Amino acid sequence: MGLSRLYLVEPKQFPDPEADTRATGAIDVLAAANVVSSLGEALVGASFAVALSARQRDIGPVLGAPRATVARLMAEAAEGEVALVFGNETVGLSNDEILHCQAAVTIPTNPAFSSLNLGSAVQVLCYECRMAAFGEKPPVSAQVATPFASPAATNDEIEGLYAHLERIMTDTGFYNPEQPGRLLPKLRRLFGRARLERDEINILRGILASTQVKTGHGKKG
Ligand code: SAH
Repeated sequence: MGLSRLYLVEPKQFPDPEADTRATGAIDVLAAANVVSSLGEALVGASFAVALSARQRDIGPVLGAPRATVARLMAEAAEGEVALVFGNETVGLSNDEILHCQAAVTIPTNPAFSSLNLGSAVQVLCYECRMAAFGEKPPVSAQVATPFASPAATNDEIEGLYAHLERIMTDTGFYNPEQPGRLLPKLRRLFGRARLERDEINILRGILASTQVKTGHGKKG
């Protein structure tokens, strides 16, 4: 999902060949992980930390919804360092650890299965971060050039196409200016939906011009 800074608080075993295997292509994230001995140490420099918890505690921030909290996290990220804090599979987060955080989130679930696997909870929050940051677009740095893209056609170029089309259709007899019907407005609607590019106009006008040569009708501008 594009997140890369991982802090591990007192991992039972690290590095661990099984972790490497499970990370598959993302082994660089594990290799760069910071191992620390307390949550406080992991949060040094962070100005906004969000705890992930399946259940509301007597004490600690009220559990918010992932999307709204991530929106806030993104806003806070413009001001300083932010963090998502997850518990381990066996004991989760302690009350004391949750009190290190400025906000808390619960992922809505079927109440009978409120406690997700750690990996699943991480994925949901990282996905929300990605959606909040980029929507469904790739980040700017990863944007690949669209193949074949050309500038959008201008209004006069599009009008030129319509005029050309009308001449050819009149020449071939497909269109009768005495009885225009709705042909021209319908073609305008069709091309309007297509958001024509300059190259496409040139191709279409090239095709029209080639029929003029074939039918022996001279060029009419
Ligand atoms: N036995 C532990 C389970 C922890 S699950 C417990 O009862 O606390 C591992 C971690 O995944 C949790 O500490 C929490 O950070 C996260 N997590 C799991 N389900 C979640 C949910 N529904 N909402 C928010 N975080 C969740």
